Amino acid sequence: MALSRFIIELRINLSPEARVYTDASSKDFQLALLRWSDVDVKVPGAIIQVANELDAVTTASSTPFAEKVLLWSTIGTDGFVLDFTIFKSIQVNSTEHQVAVAGGVLMKELSTVLADAGECAAVGNANTIGVIPYCLGGGLGVATGLMGLACDNMLSAKVILADGRLVYVDNVHEPDLFWAIKGAGFYFGAVIEITLRTYPLTIFGTHDGRHWIGNFMYPLERAAEVFEVIETLVNTPKSRTACLLMIIAPPPYFQPTIAVVPHYFGDLTEGPKIFQCLTDLGPSFFSETTPLVPNLSDHLDFACGKGGFRRFTLAGLQELKAANILKLADLFQQLLDSCPDAASSGYFIEWHCLPPPDIPTNSAFSHHDVRIWIHCLSWCQRQENWDKVFGFEQRAIDTMRFGTKPETHVDLPHGTRTGPIEQRFKGQGRLTKLRALKKEFDPQGAFTKEFL
Ligand SMILES: Cc1cc2nc3c(=O)[nH]c(=O)nc-3n(C[C@H](O)[C@H](O)[C@H](O)COP(=O)(O)OP(=O)(O)OC[C@H]3O[C@@H](n4cnc5c(N)ncnc54)[C@H](O)[C@@H]3O)c2cc1C
Repeated sequence: MALSRFIIELRINLSPEARVYTDASSKDFQLALLRWSDVDVKVPGAIIQVANELDAVTTASSTPFAEKVLLWSTIGTDGFVLDFTIFKSIQVNSTEHQVAVAGGVLMKELSTVLADAGECAAVGNANTIGVIPYCLGGGLGVATGLMGLACDNMLSAKVILADGRLVYVDNVHEPDLFWAIKGAGFYFGAVIEITLRTYPLTIFGTHDGRHWIGNFMYPLERAAEVFEVIETLVNTPKSRTACLLMIIAPPPYFQPTIAVVPHYFGDLTEGPKIFQCLTDLGPSFFSETTPLVPNLSDHLDFACGKGGFRRFTLAGLQELKAANILKLADLFQQLLDSCPDAASSGYFIEWHCLPPPDIPTNSAFSHHDVRIWIHCLSWCQRQENWDKVFGFEQRAIDTMRFGTKPETHVDLPHGTRTGPIEQRFKGQGRLTKLRALKKEFDPQGAFTKEFL
């Protein structure tokens, strides 16, 4: 059926709140098409913003997923984007320590509602990422050392499968599909709702969930001595801590700078003592905050927002070598020298203490033992520079992996979809199981051909 005919029929069956945009020249269409990154964005034939579960199921069951529908804007005029922007619901059950999150709820929206109920969840480092896609690919953030990965905190999910059926999955109903959704979710269906385990705010070590965050800045010329200290800090982790090291070129001068942002979850006066080694280095700038949980990622808002050509890739490490970070800083300088348009890029290293052992880890996600992650934020404003800027990404990851064993190299499943599959999902048994499940639930590859 032609797309235009399909849309006319669909409109009749959608709720009055749903929005259907078909005129690519209209402001509403262009606003709905805005994405975090403009890389590979195509103009679809339509954008369908469903308003609730019924709208989503009606849309998905009206047309074969494989032919027409994508959940993201890399489909051309012969297809449409199924958009969850206005479909949002958060139902907190603080007695049972659970929250049901539906549609396109964003990270900060969830944290805010949970905090009002005295609860929190294993949510991530950026305020504007979608809670559901974050959980489907693993989901790691500063609180991973306290609560484990987001995917391991999923208690159930509602998924629209490739054939348009809505299924409920948990450890009892379709347990294997549930296992796959926790870590490889976006290859199996459109997940419209998840239930997450929640925790009292006091898990952060204070009565109201505040915790200590430092911000230490050093000029790049001091890289060698700073990275020596960082190497010791990372390789001998302290409990109830997490940390982000950023090699960035912040405005107004766009000079490469090292920013170290440690977190301590406990008595607010303890943080500065635990990270005394960073003070002893004599930073060129220092500040500290004790934010409430919903605000704990505000300092990373510079990387959120929409537009520009960019990509975030996360690769795991088993150990950190100061010599490698030094080369990474050098590479960052080369990136800026060869392409000043890439000044918004950054290379980050995040580490956290290992989660408590009682958090279940029975999921398709395979990197539970990894606690050091490289985040490569490749970012330029002009399309013609993208290939060059992106070309630095693999070099940055290779630089950090230099001298480490290849079998320890891992990629975060939602950080890249192009790297070797064995690095995203470790272990032959896991891959065999994922391939069998893909054949069973999405044999035509509606949700990409991965695992087929
Ligand atoms: C600024 C930024 C910071 C990040 N920080 C972290 C971090 O700290 N830790 C971490 O683990 N990850 C992090 N990520 C990665 C992020 O979790 C994933 O990219 C996630 O998929 C992004 O969600 P989104 O809201 O951008 O989703 P979208 O762009 O809407 O979706 C991303 C992809 O997920 C799939 N998808 C989306 N919704 C669904 C659904 N309901 N059902 C099935 N598939 C779906 C689609 O294939 C889509 O292409 C970060 C990403 C960004 C942009």
